[in-house]
Amino acid sequence: MEADDIFCKLYPVWKKLGWVIAENAHAYSIYCVTPANPGHALVMPRQHVQVLAELGPEAAYAFNQLEVDVFETLKRKHSENPEHLIPLYTEMSTNPKGFDPKFATAMLSHQHIRAEPLGRMHGTNLDKIAGRTVPHYHGNMFLRYGDDKLGIADAVREYLR
Ligand SMILES: [Zn+2]
Repeated sequence: MEADDIFCKLYPVWKKLGWVIAENAHAYSIYCVTPANPGHALVMPRQHVQVLAELGPEAAYAFNQLEVDVFETLKRKHSENPEHLIPLYTEMSTNPKGFDPKFATAMLSHQHIRAEPLGRMHGTNLDKIAGRTVPHYHGNMFLRYGDDKLGIADAVREYLR
């Protein structure tokens, strides 16, 4: 991790805070500090790259494996304690480390804050025009809780007309 962006620089901070969900030799994952819904996670390669194609095959495989591990970890954490996200978002609300705390605060009263994760969606913003704010490849993982069967195309259709 060799560049000046938050994903290269702040891993030790997030690790100390307990915000790292899962990791391996080539990638790590944190809880998003501006969550869209409970358990919203970011998964990024440790290597500073713009796109996954810049990774070698071993690192690319490790990145994909970590996406699976993050989901399994979040499901296990929920089964052990359905309230495990509450101290996290309380901490982010009161000690936001420079991020707008309103998103974490909103999670504390979210209808799914104690719900069992049943599925997941992944999304990546590539290039500034697509809302990318950190110049280091990362994927967003959104946990799904209800049975509305809405897919990522529905989400895009709703907001990107
Ligand atoms: Zn970086």
